[in-house]
Amino acid sequence: MQIARNSVATIHYTLRNDKGDVIDSSDGREPLAYLHGHGNIVPGLERALEGKRAGDKLQVKVAAEDGYGTRDERLVQDVPREAFPTDVELQPGMQFHAQSSAGVHTVTVRDVGADSVKIDGNHPLAGEALSFDVTIDGVREATREELAHGHVHGEGGHHH
Ligand code: ZN
Repeated sequence: MQIARNSVATIHYTLRNDKGDVIDSSDGREPLAYLHGHGNIVPGLERALEGKRAGDKLQVKVAAEDGYGTRDERLVQDVPREAFPTDVELQPGMQFHAQSSAGVHTVTVRDVGADSVKIDGNHPLAGEALSFDVTIDGVREATREELAHGHVHGEGGHHH
C-alpha cells in the first residue's frame, strides 16, 4: 500500500544539515513510525513521502521553511543568571527544554555573562536546509486510537 493521509509509515532515515554533517539517523535503532498527514514530521519530508511504498528509497532536500522554519531573532533574549539553577554550570551550546504556552521547546545557551545569559529559543535546526535519505520500511493503516491521538502507538511510536 502507498503512504497516504492516516497511514502509518515506518522509515529508516539519515538527516544531514547544509554542511553535510549527520544530525540524526535511525541507523542502529528501530525505524521511526509516524502517522502520515498529521504534522508528525517536518512538512517538506511529509510531502515527499506521499504515495511511496515499502522498499522505496529516496533523497529529499527540504528548505528551511519546509523544515524547522526560519530563524526568528526575537527568540534570542538575555535573561538574568538567577533564572537558571545555581548548581548548573552554564556554557555556550548547552540546551534546555523550556515549557511555554506553545508547548515544550528547546532553548540553547549562546553566551554566558556575569549577570545575564543570552538564550536562543529557535529550534536548533531553524534556518537550515535539510537533506534526508529515507528508506521506507513499511506502511499500514492507522488504528482508530492512533487517529484519535494523532500519533503512532507501539513499535517506533509512543508508549503510553
Ligand atoms: Zn497516544
